[in-house]
Amino acid sequence: MHIGILGGGQLGRMLMLAGYPLGIRCRCLDPATDPCAAQVGECLQGDFDDYRALYQFASGLDLVTYEFENVPVESARWLGDRLPVWPPTETLAIAQDRVAEKSFFESLDIPVPVFAAVDSAADFERALGRIGLPAVLKTTRFGYDGKGQAVLRNRYDAELAWTRLAGRPLILEAFVPFERELSILGVRSLTGEMAFYPLVENEHRDGMLRRTTAPAPDVAPELQSRAESYARRALEALEYVGVLAIELFQLGSDLLVNEMAPRVHNSGHWTIEGARTSQFENHLRAVAGLPLGPTEPVGCSELWNLVGTLPNIQCVLAVPGAHLHLYGKNPRPNRKLGHITVCAHTPSERDARLKELSAALVE
Ligand code: AMP
Repeated sequence: MHIGILGGGQLGRMLMLAGYPLGIRCRCLDPATDPCAAQVGECLQGDFDDYRALYQFASGLDLVTYEFENVPVESARWLGDRLPVWPPTETLAIAQDRVAEKSFFESLDIPVPVFAAVDSAADFERALGRIGLPAVLKTTRFGYDGKGQAVLRNRYDAELAWTRLAGRPLILEAFVPFERELSILGVRSLTGEMAFYPLVENEHRDGMLRRTTAPAPDVAPELQSRAESYARRALEALEYVGVLAIELFQLGSDLLVNEMAPRVHNSGHWTIEGARTSQFENHLRAVAGLPLGPTEPVGCSELWNLVGTLPNIQCVLAVPGAHLHLYGKNPRPNRKLGHITVCAHTPSERDARLKELSAALVE
């Protein structure tokens, strides 16, 4: 089996690595000359809208998947006319537009923050009148890691954000005073088989994921089943194949969907060592039509992203239960360079190990 991956970043790299034991070969396409996936497998350089590159990329492949959700939908459709593309390209179109995405979840009776599409100054005034402050103004497209958005606490913030963001399609959302951010990963295979990982708790800083605790502490079984039922509804409605990540805000026993990612997800990296089957392996199994692997956690884990600077490897690896993943990238401020997952049998053992890790990271 030969699988094409649109995108050759760390997600592509970890998908490739997961393919090796299953005898699955992968080929990435990426616009960069030295994407980090190229260090572990075949990578072609080319823009996602360069049809000559797409043609060369597709040659000899059994199917195509992606690790980057901002691939042009037309390119995914062009590939889809020639060979299977999973997850479905329609999901890409929905996930690329925050208004379409929130409307999709609403249509499935899945709660989302109150929102309004904003395409003009008049829309903005109307939306502010209806939603009130505080609120969050976001670009509907190409936002990631908190970019292209502003929290509006007063009229002054609103005017400033409008000056900065106007001219692009926008969405105004009610500010959700959430207790914590959670996410769930669901996976559906070509045969319709589905599986769900446990809810995890995520901490973001400056809009970027820094820490994931898996499973999330203090999750009542009803909360897990509610998250699974939302994910199941979305997977079925989209006739989805692959791993789907859904980011949620928790408010008491309520869950509101913030967004989805139609791909393997940073909040699922802990599954490499912390679950019986990793998200990367299950994504490949799903798109290849193979039986899914079990998604139960093995003990408890916590993932820390390495952003901007590389740690002292000696010190990190001396921490019991610590697993280091470096993505082979050159350090640059705000760049995700790798992650560490600390695994343990119990939460208290994990917390003791995390304390050691914290000390190791300042060495
Ligand atoms: P996003 O790009 O939509 O994932 O937003 C990045 C981060 O901003 C989220 O992880 C939240 O921490 C925060 N955020 C986004 N939307 C809202 C909202 N409606 N209310 C409160 N916080 C939000």
